[in-house]
Amino acid sequence: HSKTPILQVENLQKRYPSGFTALNGVNLTVGEGEILALLGPNGAGKTTLISSICGISRPTGGRVLVGGHDIQSDYRAARSLIGLVPQELTIDGWEPVMQTIRYSRGLFGRPANEAYLRGLLDRLSLADKADSRVNQLSGGMKRRVLIGKALAHEPRILFLDEPTAGVDVELRRDMWDLVADLKAQGVTIILTTHYLEEAEAIADRVAVIDKGQILLVEDKDVLMRQMGRKFLRVML
Ligand code: ATP
Repeated sequence: HSKTPILQVENLQKRYPSGFTALNGVNLTVGEGEILALLGPNGAGKTTLISSICGISRPTGGRVLVGGHDIQSDYRAARSLIGLVPQELTIDGWEPVMQTIRYSRGLFGRPANEAYLRGLLDRLSLADKADSRVNQLSGGMKRRVLIGKALAHEPRILFLDEPTAGVDVELRRDMWDLVADLKAQGVTIILTTHYLEEAEAIADRVAVIDKGQILLVEDKDVLMRQMGRKFLRVML
């Protein structure tokens, strides 16, 4: 890949205090504007990898550079380039939707931009919920707010941890459309998924992870042509 890497993961290790090794030497380079799907079975280490890249979980070895900034030693600069949509619905509270999203933008020191935030709510089909309290929304709507929060500061790289697990058909379709829109704007996207179909539908490259190691990273088209779906299914 000739593009400037926006993400460089070098020999990343994560050993939990329990002694369990969740990441065992992960190397990964992702170019600007790329969509990478991380595929792997339960417990493979996908969430741990994302948490470590985003500076939430402290790795026990290796390093992560985001836009050239080390997530450990230069956290603010690196983190401001990152948008993160966690797997769990970690959102609640009585604040209205718009205020929640505005606050997220402010956290990263970005100047106010109401037009951008309005556009974002529109894009997420949340415009008519701008003044609704977050804790009164449905699960699907809360998930949309989480995506809004992640995009509020206009990150260059977006992490989606199992964005379509347990969501309805409409939200899944919206998610895939959103990913395509963001890609067109040059945003890099890394998503985890259990669904080969999802990786097939939206990714440029696919990484297969198991037992804390990346087993392969390959262009999706090459992978599908060379190995076929049957082979991949066996791995998952
Ligand atoms: P899933 O698809 O089920 O979300 P995953 O690929 O995201 O799985 P992780 O959540 O990263 O996997 O977990 C990787 C391994 O690390 C699992 O075996 C898990 O039990 C273990 N693990 C996660 N968090 C901790 C922790 N805080 N302490 C000890 N072990 C942990």
